[in-house]
Amino acid sequence: MGNALDTLDAQALAERIRSCDLCELHAHRTQALPGAGPDGADVALVLDAPGYFEDRSGQLLQGPAGLLVDRVLGACGLTREAVLVTSVARCRPPQSRTLRTSEIRQCEGYLFRELVLASPQVVVAMGTTPIQLLAGRGLRLPDAHGTAVPATIAGLGVQVLAAMDPRAAAHVAELDDRFTLLGQRLRELLHGTAPAPAASAPAQPAGPGAAGGTSRQLRLGGTGDLQGGGPG
Ligand code: SF4
Repeated sequence: MGNALDTLDAQALAERIRSCDLCELHAHRTQALPGAGPDGADVALVLDAPGYFEDRSGQLLQGPAGLLVDRVLGACGLTREAVLVTSVARCRPPQSRTLRTSEIRQCEGYLFRELVLASPQVVVAMGTTPIQLLAGRGLRLPDAHGTAVPATIAGLGVQVLAAMDPRAAAHVAELDDRFTLLGQRLRELLHGTAPAPAASAPAQPAGPGAAGGTSRQLRLGGTGDLQGGGPG
């Protein structure tokens, strides 16, 4: 992983993502999706990768999942336009399979740079892959849903709030209550009454360290190979 991303502003970063062919996923995509949201967003929502319709439309979180997320944000007085919506990988994996570790390693620098540029207070990691990357292996779904842990991501101190992937949860009516809870937890974090870290959370600040000079740890142990490289 190089550190050439460290000098890119949001527009240049988005252009780099759109033209990226660093991993094999580029061959399967309709388009690569940069994160969407303003610099200075208080909240970032991080999914694993674009899904089928997202790949075609160029927008994450549509349909029932988008409505579910809008409800969570609304509980905090936020709208979608006020938050960063992004993902670990920017290209849809074939058949929406789980990301390989090598693909995450290749793409994660884009996420870290977006987070540094946005500088959110809270990063909502939605699904197993974002949770493991940003908060460590101590948090496991479904129990971890709604649990917050402090983390340092690319030198940025944040609270990582673990959540289920709303694109799956949006189709399960029983999970509505869990997303109501998520809105409450997010509101607590944003207004300074952060919940205590879960007992299973990493003892040290979790997540990758700074890109561009500060070491980062890969916290995933998928079946893929651990190649170096990545965007930069
Ligand atoms: S590294 Fe990311 S943006 Fe580049 S081809 Fe792979 S998934 Fe797409």
